[in-house]
Amino acid sequence: LIKNADVALYNVKRNGRNNYTFYNPTINPEDSELLILENRLHHAWDRGEILLYYQPRVNITTGKITGIEALVRWQSPELGLVSPGKFIPIAEETGLIIPLGKWILQSACQEIKDWIDRGLSGIRVAVNLSARQFQESDLVLMVSQILTDTGLNSQFLELEITETIAMQNVKLTKEKLNQLSDMGIHISMDDFGTGYSSLNYLKQFPLHSLKIDRSFVSDITFDPCDLAIASAIVALGKGLNINVVAEGVETEAQLECLRQLGCMEIQGYFFSPPLPAKDTIELLKEHQSV
Ligand code: C2E
Ligand code: CA
Ligand code: CA
Ligand code: CA
Repeated sequence: LIKNADVALYNVKRNGRNNYTFYNPTINPEDSELLILENRLHHAWDRGEILLYYQPRVNITTGKITGIEALVRWQSPELGLVSPGKFIPIAEETGLIIPLGKWILQSACQEIKDWIDRGLSGIRVAVNLSARQFQESDLVLMVSQILTDTGLNSQFLELEITETIAMQNVKLTKEKLNQLSDMGIHISMDDFGTGYSSLNYLKQFPLHSLKIDRSFVSDITFDPCDLAIASAIVALGKGLNINVVAEGVETEAQLECLRQLGCMEIQGYFFSPPLPAKDTIELLKEHQSV
């Protein structure tokens, strides 16, 4: 794991005198490095350095914002903005993802509820669930508790899972997704096309969206294979009556290409990068007033 972890993180860990845990002979060296990183992350969270950015997704035809995705960030005084790709795996490995993931969900729901209360018309927020979080036996209860606590209407919440997460225990996945969907929550399949999923199961899950992974979008204008895959996913979505969202759209040419395929929604830097909460409200306000 250290190999994957950010080199900068590793150095901070080396220099962070305060963060060494006591010697425990039952923990092997790799585990203790993990614990040090976890410790660091925990402090960051306590100090309020963990926060949410939001990226809008847009209807290709109308140009309207159809929702926003919450993307976690670590704003570290020493390291700058640390991407979730660097610390979510650590949180997964150590189990910190359970309280952290709950905090993320709670914060996203609270923030959106506040915006709605301040007069913004309702906007759906999509929150990413990690594998470990999804496996928790009380996931559904936790989600419904958060909706109750924050007062957010379930129609404004969407949960994103990946094929890998969904296929770990298909029967349980179906049960959980049905319960969440029955509550009025939207479910989307993230990074679609990169994992392993059976089309037979896909039709049995209550999915509202498939998100075409960025890896198929980035070369869509010149790689015929990527074009074919994106086209197949759009057709699949149409056939199953599931909305299709293309991730990582950066150029107008990509957008045009997706439009021609009949893809309904896009998310990506072409429209907007993930933004801090303050800028997100401004964008949403501007958008609603036109
Ligand atoms: P993801 O869920 O597939 O999120 C999309 C990623 O693509 C985000 O990276 C986003 O910033 C980036 N992106 C969006 N548009 C573009 C574009 O046009 N071009 C390029 N090159 N990139 C674009 P980010 O925020 O670094 O997140 C990376 C991954 O970390 C996410 O991938 C997700 O798997 C995970 N993650 C982020 N936030 C959370 C969270 O709150 N909980 C959990 N469990 N995982 C999270
Ligand atoms: Ca996602
Ligand atoms: Ca994705
Ligand atoms: Ca991804």
